[in-house]
Parts: sequence; structure tokens; C-alpha cells
Amino acid sequence: MSKERDRERAATDAVHAGMQPDPVTGAVMPPIHLATTFERDADGGYARGYVYSRQGNPNRDALETALAQLEAGAGAAAFPSGMAAAFAVLFALEPGDHLVVADDCYYGVGELLRGPLARWGLQADFVDLSSLEEARAAMRPNTALVWAESPSNPMLRISDLQALAELAHQHDARLAVDNTWPTPLGQQPLLLGADVVVHSTTKYLAGHSDVLGGAAVAREEGPLLERLREAQDLAGIVLGPFDCWLTRRGILSLPARLERQTRGAQAVAEALQLHPAVEQVHYPGLPSDPGHAVAARQMHGFGGMLSFQVRGGEAAAMAVAAHTRLFRRATSLGGPESLIEHRASIEGPHSATPGGLLRLSIGLEGVQDLIEDLDQALTQAQAG
Ligand SMILES: *Cc1c(COP(=O)(O)O)cnc(C)c1O
Repeated sequence: MSKERDRERAATDAVHAGMQPDPVTGAVMPPIHLATTFERDADGGYARGYVYSRQGNPNRDALETALAQLEAGAGAAAFPSGMAAAFAVLFALEPGDHLVVADDCYYGVGELLRGPLARWGLQADFVDLSSLEEARAAMRPNTALVWAESPSNPMLRISDLQALAELAHQHDARLAVDNTWPTPLGQQPLLLGADVVVHSTTKYLAGHSDVLGGAAVAREEGPLLERLREAQDLAGIVLGPFDCWLTRRGILSLPARLERQTRGAQAVAEALQLHPAVEQVHYPGLPSDPGHAVAARQMHGFGGMLSFQVRGGEAAAMAVAAHTRLFRRATSLGGPESLIEHRASIEGPHSATPGGLLRLSIGLEGVQDLIEDLDQALTQAQAG
């Protein structure tokens, strides 16, 4: 099946997966089930399938069904944040296991591996996964997982996910992909051979900057999916019913939002590339971008995120961020409002991000207004 057809089917899933009308009232949008406990049948059984809401809840089921279908996986587990989802996937490994991790993976995942999970016995090597040679050289006999993120944060580097999946499988390891930025409408790593996909649903999936959440989707039923469900059921790491409902609701409009955000990012990237105050633009939709060819092959669209480096380094970048009027100075991404962020100053001591780099999350505003806002901020910053 073609990539375009896969994306179109994902758009249909965004609207329909897990969304049957309520059998009691016919309500087209699902009710929110806040009950923590469910009644047993007279014979002591639970024919309706729900016992206690840590173990299962109809709103969580609806969200997990949608995410599994969107990612073309066998099953999904929803967690209270993207970090909790990452933790659940990493905690499914054994002490002594080795990981090969993208050196520009989400900053929190790196810190989790360097701190708590290193103490628990995981060993991680951080390498540039956009280079298959570096990835291959980092593999060890006890490598259990390769952790990729493409496009990466904040440099938008592209890794060849199909090649990484093949490499991992040659070593009896699995490939995990943090697919938060592209979303399943922009990229479906499980169809490229990945074994598990991780999301911060906080971002594009929920899409309105008002609910924290995360999820992991596994390609097949088996031990990994069982451990993810253990993290919910036994460790109690679950997303509450209202947050599941909000997230499922957000996914309804993902196809329309992402299409507009992607068009906006492309236009902003092209405008910035021509701006004299801009040193470099990082966006895989630009034909000059080093990741363009691989991204064009494995993505359904280049997404709504980009970054750029301002001439004059950190001070100049901070001045640009200080002068934007529409772009909000805030972390996070994927919401209706455009955001600008100086990454180096939020990332902390292990950051390798250039000081002059600003990251943009393109929202739903008029794209010409966004371009004009950046232009006036760049001009004012240069004027001092
Ligand atoms: C935000 C983010 C995370 C962490 O998710 P939270 O929901 O904030 O815990 C992980 N990976 C990526 C790529 C992210 O953007």
C-alpha cells in the first residue's frame, strides 16, 4: 500500500478509531467515565470487561484503540506523560541491558538514562543515529534497544528508520522510535520495521496545550506489550479518564491541524532561509537540508517544527525571542499557538545545542503574520 494511502487511512482512524456511539444513549461523542470501580455480575463475573479503573477504563480504551490503529500497532498503553511512556518502555528492559540512543534525543530521556535508569543497571551509549556507521559501531552483544527520534530535537536531524530497524534486528535488539514530532499522520515507524513507538501526546495528538499525556504503541502482542500493561496495572502509571477523553478529542482534529502546521512550517523555513540575519535553517522540507531525501522517503509530510540559527550567537537569539509578538516564548510544541524557544538555555549541562539556535513550533495562525512577526523581531534584534 502506498504511503499516501497509509496517511489517508490514518486520517480516517483519527476520526473513527475507538469511537462507537454510546450504546446507552446514542451519544456520538463518548461520555467521560469517572467511576473507579465497576459492578460485578450476579454470577461474580465481569462480562462487561471493566473491574477497577487502574486496570481499565472505557476512555482509556478508546484512546489506546485509536493510537494503536493510527500507528498500525497491535496495542497501545496510555501513560500520564510522554516521560512516563518513555520510562515504561525503558523499564521493560533488564538490568545489564545496553542501549544505543540518539545523542540528540529528547533531553529528559537522556537524563532519565544517565540518572535513575543507569542506577537501575541500564547502560546507554549516545551516538548520532543519522549516521548508520556510528549506529553500527555502537552495537554490542548485550544491546537490547536502539532509541531513535526523527526528526530530532532541536536540530531536525533525520535518521533512516528502516535501516536502523534492520540493524537492530540483526543484533537481536529492538528499535524504539519517539514519534512525538511527526505524529502517526506524518510518519508510521512500525510500518518501517520499528518495534515500539513512544509519544508525548501532550504535543500534537492532544494538540491544544492543555493536557499532559503519553503513550507507547507496540508492533505486536508479546512480552513488551505485557510489560507496558504491567506498568499501568501494577506500577499504577495510568492516564486519568478526563485526560484520556481530552486527548482522544484532540486527535479528532489532528489531520486538519497538522496539514496546516506543516504548510506553515515550510513557508516559514523558506522565508527564514532568505533572511540576512539567519545563519542556517533546520527543516527537512527544504531540498538543501541534509535529511531531505530520507525524510521524503519515510515521512508523509515534513511536520510543523523547525529551528534556525541566528547570526551573532546566543545574545542575538535571545534578542529575537524577546521581540516576537505572536510567537509565545515557551517550551513545548504542537498547540494552536506558535511558540519560540531558546533551547540551549532550557536544556542544561549536557546540552550540545548551539547558543544561537531558536526552535519554532508553528501554530494555526495566518502564515504571513508569522513570517512578518519573525522578520520584525530579527530586524529589531539587529538594531539592538
Ligand atoms: C515533550 C516530549 C517528550 C516528553 O513528554 P512529556 O509529555 O512532556 O512528558 C518526549 N519526547 C519528545 C520528542 C517531546 O517533545
